Parts: sequence; C-alpha cells; structure tokens
Amino acid sequence: MSRSIESLKLAERVADDLLRAVGESIPVDVGRVAEMVGVATVETAPMIEDGRTMWTPIGPVIQLNPARPKTRQRFTLAHEIAHVVLGPSSDPDRVVYRRAMCDSEIDEEHLCDAFAAALLMPRTWVNDQVRFWARPTFTLNLLRAMSGHAEVSISAAAARVTDVAGRLCAVIRWSKVGNEFVSTHRAALPVDLVGKRLRLGPTTSDYLVANRADGWIDGDIVADNTRLPARMQINRDRKGMTMLITAIGRRD
Ligand SMILES: [Zn+2]
Repeated sequence: MSRSIESLKLAERVADDLLRAVGESIPVDVGRVAEMVGVATVETAPMIEDGRTMWTPIGPVIQLNPARPKTRQRFTLAHEIAHVVLGPSSDPDRVVYRRAMCDSEIDEEHLCDAFAAALLMPRTWVNDQVRFWARPTFTLNLLRAMSGHAEVSISAAAARVTDVAGRLCAVIRWSKVGNEFVSTHRAALPVDLVGKRLRLGPTTSDYLVANRADGWIDGDIVADNTRLPARMQINRDRKGMTMLITAIGRRD
C-alpha cells in the first residue's frame, strides 16, 4: 500500500475515533468535535479564504468565513479541526503524528479535506445511504438525501461517494447564460477532466432542445476539443442545470 493511501486511511481512522467519542449521529455535531480536540473558540471573521486556525495562548482559535454557505462552513470547520489534530508544525509533541499522517506524496491540505469528508460522512453511513438510495445506480436523489441529512454540499457528497464506492459519481453544475449552458461548478470529476474547458456535447444539447422532461440520457460533453459520450442524469431548474455523470469515456 502506498504511503499516501496509508495517510488517508489514518485520517479516516482518526475521524472515526472522534465520531465514536461524540456519539456518531448524523448530522455530526462539528462544534463538539472541535471542543473535544481542544479548540478554544470557533468564530466568524471576514476573510478571503474559507477559514483558518490561529494558535493563541488560550489554545487554537478557528475562524470561519461567514460569507460562505453554512454547508461550506461546516466542511471548513471539519478541515480546520484536522489542522488542530496535526498541530502547529513547530510543536515537537505533534511532530510524530504529523509525520505519520503527512508525507511527501500528499500535502496537508489534501489530508485535512479527506479527514473532513470522513468526519461529516462516515464510511459506514455512506455505504448505508448508497444501498438505500442508489439501486441500481447513483442518482441525484442519493446526493440530495445525503447532503440534506449530513448538512454538506452536493459536491462534497459526490466526492465522498466516489471515494467510498470507488465508482464515478461526478456532478457538474451548468448555469444558463443567454441560450447557453456554462459549466460553473464541478465535483468528483475524473482526473483527466480536471482543469479542462467543458461544454455540452451535441447529443446532450439536442436532447435539451427537443425534450422538456429531465431524466437519464446517453449524452455527451466536450472537454477542450474532445467529445466524450457520457451516461448522465440531468435536472433543469430556473437558473440552469445539475448533471450527475456515472460513466464517461471515449468511444472507440
Ligand atoms: Zn487547510
């Protein structure tokens, strides 16, 4: 097993231990977890970033950006709790823990995100949700149920399902700009699509013009200049469209 996978597993184990200690109910009481790891205060403060941890004489103080949605603030608080668990890099007592969890292959930010996802959406709970909602395949209903229950964003739910189930569960949010759909948000996309310019493919566009009903289609998206067929569930609303992709690939 590579050291980065071991680090992620350890992050998940630490999250599970903390959850057991606070009594494992969903939505997780993140404020109590913060108290348990010794956070002195959780407060909001105007800032550009999502959140930060300050090491003060009374203990670690976590500040959150109040302009972010509540679900985002919860995820950020969970992420900052991981920084507190790892401790300041200068603290000699924490160095061993930090070495065990971080290595050259995986940076601390990535590790803290993995911890946050595991804390807010424990693996066993995700598996139960998938069994309950996702027969025979993942659906937007699964992600909406998870995000509502665990108080996380649909993107965070998609990323966690992808991780836990080891299958594609990617979400793209498209906003309507004039007559066009423009991709404004993506979650859990396969790595080879990250950072690419995305457009709706011709099959998907034709479907949207010809049909008012939403549902599952064999559509396509264009990544940079490559057209990729994709199995997708689409759900239009007044401002645009949410798209769940469960399979994507080049056609031979
Ligand atoms: Zn961070």
